[in-house]
Amino acid sequence: MSSLQTLNAIKQHLVSLKFSAALEALDQAVERLENDEISPLEALESILSHEQNVRETRRVKTQLRTSRLLQHKTLDTFDFAFQPTIDKQRVMTLAELGFIARQQAIHLLGPPGVGKTHLAIALGILAVKAGHAVYFTTLTDLIASLTKAERESNLAARLRYINRAPLLIIDEVGYLPIEKNGANLFFQLVNGRYEKGATILTSNRGFKDWGEIFGDNVIAAALLDRLLHKANVMEIAGNSYRLREHADLIPESLKRGGASEENPTKRKPGRPKKVAVSTESTGS
Ligand code: ADP
Ligand code: MG
Repeated sequence: MSSLQTLNAIKQHLVSLKFSAALEALDQAVERLENDEISPLEALESILSHEQNVRETRRVKTQLRTSRLLQHKTLDTFDFAFQPTIDKQRVMTLAELGFIARQQAIHLLGPPGVGKTHLAIALGILAVKAGHAVYFTTLTDLIASLTKAERESNLAARLRYINRAPLLIIDEVGYLPIEKNGANLFFQLVNGRYEKGATILTSNRGFKDWGEIFGDNVIAAALLDRLLHKANVMEIAGNSYRLREHADLIPESLKRGGASEENPTKRKPGRPKKVAVSTESTGS
């Protein structure tokens, strides 16, 4: 077989194997080989690594969509200097993902804008890259999805589907109050997941408020029993990154995101009022 015939045969193999990225890389590798820039083994390696990289990028992209991790937030872009109550070393240890193998719960607590969702997403993306299935949701969406599944007599399958993910991220616990049936459904999920999967929860409320959030002290205690066992609790006390250029415009009474200690009964559980300043578009 002539060189050209061999090359065409290789291309045919790559096509039938669906190695399209390797096929793209082939001609250039052969050219570099003929120019004595690389050895035959290096040519083979460069073709295969190109295929491998393209497949891995595609896998991560698909998996991020399935996980509903649609925002791109990473630890590299997190400014730890801005939030000194966050122990960077502790976050870096979490980034090694041992908590997933240990099926631990991580609680990221703090007022709005301190980076809870950013950190949760960054850990979720690392988990996806490491090959773990992740399910990201807000508590409100999670309960809506369980309620719908129950109505459609599909609850068991829905619980199984969510709990199959080795990492469940539940964002925004406590922004909105949960009604009784929702709290019951959430308990079924948490109980089924206990010691079977890792969970990251973010909240602007303390654990003492869970009775109020879930409208029932007994359910709240049962939830906390599971979600605090072996848990890793990170309390972030700092200023909002969103409002970092406008902190002077926020009244003191609102600065702690409704998580004030003094008068819990007066507090409205709703989402803190939006402040009429543009903060996301500053680009800094
Ligand atoms: P929270 O969930 O605590 O309310 P977010 O994580 O949504 O806050 O943060 C609000 C915005 O500010 C997001 O765009 C996030 O990426 C950004 N942000 C928050 N803290 C930091 C930080 N320390 N460094 C870089 N960006 C941050
Ligand atoms: Mg958030």
